[in-house]
This record gives sequence, C-alpha cells and structure tokens, in this order.
Amino acid sequence: MEQTKPVRGRFAPSPSGRMHLGNLCCALLAWLSVRHQNGEMLLRIEDLDPDRCKRAYAEQLCDDLRWLGLDWDIGPYYQSERRAEYERALEALKARGLVYPCFCTRAQLHAASAPHDSDGVFRYPGTCRDLTPEEIAQKSAVRAPALRFRAPEGETRFDDLFLGVQGFDVQRTFGDFVVRRSDGVHAYQLAVSVDDAEMGVTEVIRGRDLLASTACQLRLFEALGAKPPRYGHVPLLVNPEGRRLSKRERDLDIGVLRERFTPEVLCGRIAYLLGMLDRAEPVTARELIPLFPKADLSRATITVPENFAAPGEISVDDGTSLRSNIR
Ligand code: GLU
Repeated sequence: MEQTKPVRGRFAPSPSGRMHLGNLCCALLAWLSVRHQNGEMLLRIEDLDPDRCKRAYAEQLCDDLRWLGLDWDIGPYYQSERRAEYERALEALKARGLVYPCFCTRAQLHAASAPHDSDGVFRYPGTCRDLTPEEIAQKSAVRAPALRFRAPEGETRFDDLFLGVQGFDVQRTFGDFVVRRSDGVHAYQLAVSVDDAEMGVTEVIRGRDLLASTACQLRLFEALGAKPPRYGHVPLLVNPEGRRLSKRERDLDIGVLRERFTPEVLCGRIAYLLGMLDRAEPVTARELIPLFPKADLSRATITVPENFAAPGEISVDDGTSLRSNIR
C-alpha cells in the first residue's frame, strides 16, 4: 500500500541581518502549519548573495528561532554550498533551450521599462532573447552575461492555501526572469525551486510579497519536471501608516524584542497580532499548535500597533468585525 508522505515545510531565511517581526510571524506560521499536521520542518539558509549574507547572521538566525521555541528536523542546509546543484539544473534547462544569455546592464534595463508596480518589479522586455551565436560570442568578449529563463506566455494558476486560486502571467509580469546573475550568483527563483524540489518540500508558507514569484517558481518546476509544493501566502506586516515594516522600525528587530520580552510574552503578542488569540497573553509556540490556523490569513496586511514593542497592553485594530468583541 502506498504510504502518504508526511508534510514537509521549511524555514528559508536570508541571513542578511537580524530577523524582524515580519520574518518571525512567517516563521511561526510555517512552523505551526507543519507541526499541526505532524509534519517535518526543514531549515535552509538562503545565503546566495556573498555581499549581503554572513555566516554569523545565519548562526544568529538559528539561535533566534530556537529562542522563540521553533525547531526543525532537517538541516540547516546552506544555499552557498549547493551551487553544483543549481548548475546541474541550469544545464538541464539549457539542454531544452529554456535559458539564454542576457548582456543588458541594469541601467539599460531600467531605461527600457517602466516599473511594474510599487515594489519596483521590472518586466524584462526580451532584448537578448533572440541573439545569434555570433552576437553572443561578440558580446561575451566584453561582458559576462546573466542567464534568463524563457518564461512561457499565459497564466500560471495555483490554489493558495489561504487565498484560493491565484493566477499570474509570468511573461507579462516579469518577462524572462534571471536565473543566474552576471556575477555568477544563482538567482533566488532558481535556487528556491531547485531546493524545494530536491529537498522534498511539500508546503511553503511565506509572506505575500512572494505571491507573484510563485508563478515563476511553478514554471521552473514544470521545466525541471518536478512536483511543486503547495503554497500559502500570509499577510504582510505594515506600520500604522500602512507601509511595509522595514529596518527603520528598529524596535521590531528580534534583537530588541529579545531584550524586552520572554519568548512566551513575545509569542503571545505575535499570536494576538495574527488573530490567533483574543488577548496578548503569554503562550509557548507549542501551545499555539492546536489553534492553527485560527486566524484570517487571507488579509493583505496586518497593522502592527505603534506600541507593539513597548511594555504593557497592545491592541490591534485591523478594521474587521472579527475583533469587535475585544477591548
Ligand atoms: N529567503 C527568502 C526571504 O528571506 C524567502 C524565500 C521563500 O520563502 O521562498 O525572503
């Protein structure tokens, strides 16, 4: 009889600094979902960019996750140690004519296309898509190329765990996206897809900022002949002005939060913020497992109150009737 495989989820943090509240919420939700299903959790450190990522940050990340009560069964894997796997995947894509070299500079690209949305996503107009072998040879002598994936036309659909059916046209949204940068660093979209496929990940819970990226990743899964995981995208945290949390909100950095709160107090505040508890009372991460997903995770954003990191009561006003009974 065929055995059903356990759910396998993952944390996939980038060690480019200390985590902030937004990262913590995503990590907690990913962990709760997996533990709720008696699944396995995997930790993968996404440290591909040598200019931004540091080993010390990765170690700190592990320590911070454990401090909050989040554990993992597999890993940590380091993407920086998996370049051979990404190259192998690129070879497979190349063999099928699905990647091509692009010699455009960033400045050229920015001049050629309008930002796609407020996050500054640029659609690649396909400038180098049809270069002849001679042109490629000529340009290669001057500049190392990036590699781009020939994104198919048409909508890519998937059923998000929290948002229901989603559809994005990768070609119209991103164009042929980069799979290896001109400096040789493998791009996020490639590495994350190869890893999720090879590591047997069945469930990806992450922030909504990556919703459209999922379509790129699904196209890569398809091109690599791999079975994709299920995806669930959770709300982004915003400040009271409605802007995405950034490093400017220094007191929402885990370093500061750890100084001010015990893990249980912080967990309680996060669970309340997410709508999993009616009051911000101390709780362990483990105690939240049976409550998952008692929260409306289909919202686009969650507003973090100004005083989240200050001692004392916090109250969340998310503008929905869900909380009308809470003081
Ligand atoms: N490493 C990415 C980040 O920290 C997350 C990637 C993912 O969850 O797919 O933003």
